[in-house]
Amino acid sequence: MSNLRYLVANVLCTLLRFIPIPCRTGVIKIGNPGRDSPVLLTCNYWLTVERVKKAIRGIDCYLLVANSRGINVWCASAGGHLTNHSVISILKTSGIEELVGHRNIILPQLAASGIEAKVIKEKTGWNVIWGPVYAHDIPEFLRNNLKKTPNMREIKFPLRQRLEISVAWAFPISLIIGLILFFVFPKLMIPALVAIWSLSFLTFLAFPLFSRMADRRRKRTPNGQPRFLDTLIYSLFVWGIFILLVSIVEFLTGQLSWIEILRWAAISVILTFVLNMDLMGLTPIYRSEFLKDRLLTIEINQEKCIGCRTCENVCPRNCYRMDEEKNVAVMVEAERCIKCGACIVQCPSDALYFRRPDGEIVPPEVIRKFKLNFIGTRAVRVE
Ligand code: SF4
Ligand code: SF4
Repeated sequence: MSNLRYLVANVLCTLLRFIPIPCRTGVIKIGNPGRDSPVLLTCNYWLTVERVKKAIRGIDCYLLVANSRGINVWCASAGGHLTNHSVISILKTSGIEELVGHRNIILPQLAASGIEAKVIKEKTGWNVIWGPVYAHDIPEFLRNNLKKTPNMREIKFPLRQRLEISVAWAFPISLIIGLILFFVFPKLMIPALVAIWSLSFLTFLAFPLFSRMADRRRKRTPNGQPRFLDTLIYSLFVWGIFILLVSIVEFLTGQLSWIEILRWAAISVILTFVLNMDLMGLTPIYRSEFLKDRLLTIEINQEKCIGCRTCENVCPRNCYRMDEEKNVAVMVEAERCIKCGACIVQCPSDALYFRRPDGEIVPPEVIRKFKLNFIGTRAVRVE
């Protein structure tokens, strides 16, 4: 039954990736937990809960499911839906305080941009421990005495996630375009659907090529942001490969003609543009081209730094290293920063901040109070 639920959650949430799908909040017992068992917390996005439950199957622990309005951990934290209030509320109302004798709670690392460990401690007495980015690393993290390797801290864009995004992107587009064409140009419906799905898979399967090109470029820019030109070049490349594949299929089936190729080229050039319009925004490793904050740069006031390593622990791009001699954090790979703000939110001595391209400083209190709205502007105020 649980395997079937896991499968349904994966299929449904992949097809409807951009829609919140909530599940019940509360405490879930995994195995046979006792008073010393670990307490983990996640959001109430159905797919996340199923994946975390699968990852920790066989470990005696408690899983708290906090209200994030059915949105995944990262988006909910960045958007002000998984907040201090969500965590405090579940700690106070779930009955977990009677079930365990300790006050340590493991939060997903990607919640660090929205939840303040300091506030949770002050309001509830619970110590926040930042767990790994991915649920599948939780068992090793627990075995490792709650220590994370750099690999466990880093967000990636692996093949499986790229395939999921291909489906998540192709499904709603093919639904809308398919319906329109069905009524207006029924003959074009099947070619358009073939083009949408093929282009979507091509775009994300060949993505490492884009990444290589973009990473070379962003090393040379102060804010570490690739340029829109990279997306344009990559789109033309994907489009070219698609036309080549169509020509090969048409040749092998004896239907190759210039008219046919031109028809495919016309359909696919528009779709390639639509699919790649916000290519960087569809990945967890770049910032959307449409967001102003992609141009921010992050800075450290080393005089304020107390060497606590929190920034290193919560950064999903492994941008920090410690200068052991001076006991301060140093940014070693600034161009990898995706401006998530997690390090700024968590820094206990306010040693980190963003600087705008015009030189103005965005102080930590602004990053803590204002979260991203649905168009990616810091306009959602959280208390
Ligand atoms: S979190 Fe702040 S105080 Fe701690 S090491 Fe990083 S910059 Fe320094
Ligand atoms: S350095 Fe950049 S990517 Fe890393 S936590 Fe800070 S804002 Fe996020």
